[in-house]
Amino acid sequence: MDTLFHGVLGATLCSRTGLAGGRRGPGPEFKRRWLLSDWTLWAAFFFGIFPDLASLGIHFMMDAFSGNGVRWHGIPAFVFFLYDVTHSLLGIAVGYGLLVAWKRALWLPALAWPLHVLSDVPTHGTGRFLTPILWPFSDWGFAGWSWWLEPRVFYGGWILIGALWLVVIALRLTRRKT
Ligand SMILES: [Zn+2]
Repeated sequence: MDTLFHGVLGATLCSRTGLAGGRRGPGPEFKRRWLLSDWTLWAAFFFGIFPDLASLGIHFMMDAFSGNGVRWHGIPAFVFFLYDVTHSLLGIAVGYGLLVAWKRALWLPALAWPLHVLSDVPTHGTGRFLTPILWPFSDWGFAGWSWWLEPRVFYGGWILIGALWLVVIALRLTRRKT
């Protein structure tokens, strides 16, 4: 799916303000401060966009700074290499392991990274952006329905996010009553 979708989906499922917070939500320590003070919300958004940011994002930033304008062609090989690393099970296992070893509390928001790749698998069809889940061992990928060609996939994703937030709201409301 598109990068913004991944960020919002990560924040929806892998933050304490989102579904992972269950009935309790971000917790009393955030109540007195402003609504979006839950750091896991922002971290989950970041890890949600990270696989694209650390690969295609570098290409688009280089294009923007060189004055070429943002282009989908002329993507350098190293960007595809980074795309393979950030979108494969091996890359995720190493990256996630290092992150959690560094800071234990990252275990929840960093799950937005595998979630990104998991949601890319069915929403990318054959072509250069087929999700390289088994890289570097195999070129195999699941030929899914490309979100940029199928409006139903694109809008369906956002409707799903809306539905998930309704579940979050319902959980928090039922907590208040008990
Ligand atoms: Zn991606």
